[in-house]
Amino acid sequence: MATNFDFLRQTTFSDDDIARMLRLKAPEDVKRLQERAYELTTDLLGDEVYLRGLIEISNICTANCRYCGIRKSNHAVSRYTLPRHVVIGCALAAARAGYGSIAIQAGERTDRHWVEWISGLLREIHERTVSDTLPLGLGITLSLGEQPYEVYAEWAEASGNPDGLRYLLRIETSNPELFHKLHCTPGRHEKNLEHRMTALRNLRRAGYQVGTGVMIGLPGQTVEDLVQDIRTFQTIDADMIGMGPYLLSKGADMVDCGMMAHDPLLRLSLNMIAATRLVLRDVNIAAATALETLEPNGRILGIMSGCNVVMPNITPQATRSSYQLYDNKSGTEVGAESNTKIESDIVRIAGRRLGLNQLGSSIHWQSRR
Ligand code: SF4
Repeated sequence: MATNFDFLRQTTFSDDDIARMLRLKAPEDVKRLQERAYELTTDLLGDEVYLRGLIEISNICTANCRYCGIRKSNHAVSRYTLPRHVVIGCALAAARAGYGSIAIQAGERTDRHWVEWISGLLREIHERTVSDTLPLGLGITLSLGEQPYEVYAEWAEASGNPDGLRYLLRIETSNPELFHKLHCTPGRHEKNLEHRMTALRNLRRAGYQVGTGVMIGLPGQTVEDLVQDIRTFQTIDADMIGMGPYLLSKGADMVDCGMMAHDPLLRLSLNMIAATRLVLRDVNIAAATALETLEPNGRILGIMSGCNVVMPNITPQATRSSYQLYDNKSGTEVGAESNTKIESDIVRIAGRRLGLNQLGSSIHWQSRR
């Protein structure tokens, strides 16, 4: 008997519907799900894919998340913070190349010197990237971890561009027990899911487009957990989602837990992206670098499963190998210009076109506003 896929055309989905999408295995069934997610993306968001030039400004981190290769206790990592003029140079190059937006990522630090350093950086990026082509300056996505509301507000003010201001703070999992296992490191920097949710609410209050996400295929994670992850994205009323497969890192504290085999992990990751598109509809979804690390065509498959954002790494070549959240990270051996060309090719192969010189803000956020 032929499988009935009419349910993919619904506008609301039960938990059972979502679990059914996540469990699809037969290649023709997975393809039906991906095609529906791609079609809905085109209908709601058009055929443009937006660029976020990723600058990994520092790998210094005061936290100790067990899955992460740059956690504080990994003393094998050579630590760096890019000089301000280097970060500014990357941002100006991104603006010239038509990116429209950049993403600034670092480990988590809450000291006053760092907060003020970021504020000064944001001010200078804004002042130097306002132009006829980008009248509001570069859009900026910050990914700098959990901070007090006052810090989020200070950085929002410093960015000078409330229309292009975003923050990515992943919950990693909505299952409190699993979250605890991932973050149960002794000391004052142990993480707590409730604090993470409070930080996400504070980001909304401070005026950011709010992004979150999870790791897919974590040891001990179930399909029901992933269903609840999507429900939590809805509770947060997320504007953008950044998620990818869980990959091992030798520098992490979870090597003994292993990871899923390649094929089921890739399939589950793509099913999760497509299901998230069908349930959340008009949010931005990024095709993560982790997907490309797992599978050479990962980002093409991501776009074909409902992603509409790509994040070329424009960090200077010399420091990229020190920002290994997981092993063999994709793009670490490729120069910035080549990366841009690669992204352009990826988008074209996936049947899309690059949305150059645009903020590419989430339609979900624009509608709510
Ligand atoms: S996941 Fe982020 S906060 Fe946690 S150790 Fe890694 S860089 Fe630090």
